Amino acid sequence: MKIAFATSEAVPFAKTGGLADVCGALPLALGDLGEEVVVVMPKYTSVPHSGVVLRTLNADYDYVRVSENVTFYFVKADMFLRKGFYGDENGDYPDNLRRFSFFCKKTLSLFKTINFYPEVIHCHEWQACLIPLFIHAFGRDYFPEKIKRPHTLLTIHNLAYQGIFPQDQMFETGLDSTYFSVSGLEFFNQINLLKGGILYSDSINTVSPTYSEQIQTEEFGCGLDGVLRQKSEHICGIINGVDYKLWNPQGDTHLVKNYSINNMEDKLVNKLKLQEALRLDVGEDLPLLGFVGRLVEQKGVDLIAKSLLELCREGVEAVILGTGDKKYEAQLKDVAKQYPKQVSFNCDFNDKLAHQIYAGSDIFLMPSRFEPCGIGQLISFKYGTIPVCFKTGGLADTVFDYDSKIQDGNGFVFTMYTEGAFILAVEKAIELFSNKKEEWNALMKKIMRLNFSWKKSAMTYSEFYKELKHLGYVI
Ligand code: ADP
Repeated sequence: MKIAFATSEAVPFAKTGGLADVCGALPLALGDLGEEVVVVMPKYTSVPHSGVVLRTLNADYDYVRVSENVTFYFVKADMFLRKGFYGDENGDYPDNLRRFSFFCKKTLSLFKTINFYPEVIHCHEWQACLIPLFIHAFGRDYFPEKIKRPHTLLTIHNLAYQGIFPQDQMFETGLDSTYFSVSGLEFFNQINLLKGGILYSDSINTVSPTYSEQIQTEEFGCGLDGVLRQKSEHICGIINGVDYKLWNPQGDTHLVKNYSINNMEDKLVNKLKLQEALRLDVGEDLPLLGFVGRLVEQKGVDLIAKSLLELCREGVEAVILGTGDKKYEAQLKDVAKQYPKQVSFNCDFNDKLAHQIYAGSDIFLMPSRFEPCGIGQLISFKYGTIPVCFKTGGLADTVFDYDSKIQDGNGFVFTMYTEGAFILAVEKAIELFSNKKEEWNALMKKIMRLNFSWKKSAMTYSEFYKELKHLGYVI
């Protein structure tokens, strides 16, 4: 089938989070299954630094064929050539509606230019949400007569980001005012791109089954649960995969020493070197907790910071890597200052250190308040680093509480969102780490064998696209 991805990020060209991991890896996995995939994204300043050489198609697009069946196209415009993708230290760019309207229009015009008419346009996040509306309003401009209108699938990677703009910017979309209504983009007198995308796309999926249910409730719906319930029968959840070419301790070039199930002692070498490099007390028996992620409310950073004060008194060590809200950065700096030999806070976006943390830690922390899928816990499985998670979204679908009696489960899970419950789960993990070494080692090996490859997810998407294809219609 012919599939087009419209995304604002993809590894290795631009990344702020999991969206980039998905849009970098899923197209390749689909290509391996025989799907023909075109990925369209903006050409940011970061793109030429990816190490991948691009070719010029024309004044509007660059491109690169990354595999037999997969080609990436980059929309060129000065408005994408900025320090950040969506904003800088002063906040979101005020012209983001103009930037991503332009991106959506250029994505649609590409198909005629390269004579590639997708059967499904797979739109990701609010940045691509105007595509189904533009097809509705101007479909004929993009798809000649007799071409079947493509089916639009919207993937919501995180409902908390909706693309909200003042009503007086509506002209930037080029859509007439009828699209600014309760059954369109209007949301409390503002433009809400995600809402428009939900209502105008043919199908919707989220990145885990549990999250697809949760977003239809008031608690997790971020104000859009009512809109989502209207489309309930068109919503499903497909769990993300991990790119094991990038995330595999056996061949990971960022590690001090590679390891696998057959030489777990080399995982320990990574731990000792990490402790040393970050000037923590060095010792194989000191339980080392790791965290890699955006420092935002969603990720439970305050819970980590507060709990660490107690856990450090019990002799635990922690390596934290992340950037985000200033208040969390300050909170973590403070904990690291109080326990300089036990807590290393690295306020940075650093891929190499991320790999070393997944490998060198004993336990990976993921106490997210909500989590659409979460990649951190899946990566930590592969590195034999036992995750401690809150039971929510994709974490609930992938991490199951370990029961020592029957040696069942693959991590440690807490179900009440309190500091006490989180600390108890970490302590339970540490108890096993410190006092039941054989069981701990068996658990490490067990999680390293789990398979969350993209191949599996891509097969599910491929089947899903086939179902959608039959639902398309001629404009
Ligand atoms: P989200 O998409 O909500 O940010 P995910 O768990 O789905 O969360 O994906 C986060 C991805 O970004 C992971 O690959 C993680 O390792 C990476 N990451 C997050 N913060 C950093 C950082 N500061 N440095 C390096 N990698 C990071």
